[in-house]
Amino acid sequence: MDRRIDELGRIVIPSHMRRAVGFETKTPIKFEVVDGGIMLRKACPTCIICNADKNLTEVKGKYVCEECRQLLK
Ligand SMILES: [Zn+2]
Repeated sequence: MDRRIDELGRIVIPSHMRRAVGFETKTPIKFEVVDGGIMLRKACPTCIICNADKNLTEVKGKYVCEECRQLLK
């Protein structure tokens, strides 16, 4: 299936692909350049220090995991 990028850089992700990976309307997406292509992933918050994705606390719009939070005390 081929799609064309429009003048503003937009492209429609085919709905069956969005459904297959759980990309719903308003899902935050992260882009990464990988092997000459672009990878799209759900953007989930991670600890700004160790990249953990569990037990996070938001501090001024950034996330810190419990373990790192204890180290900062
Ligand atoms: Zn951490």
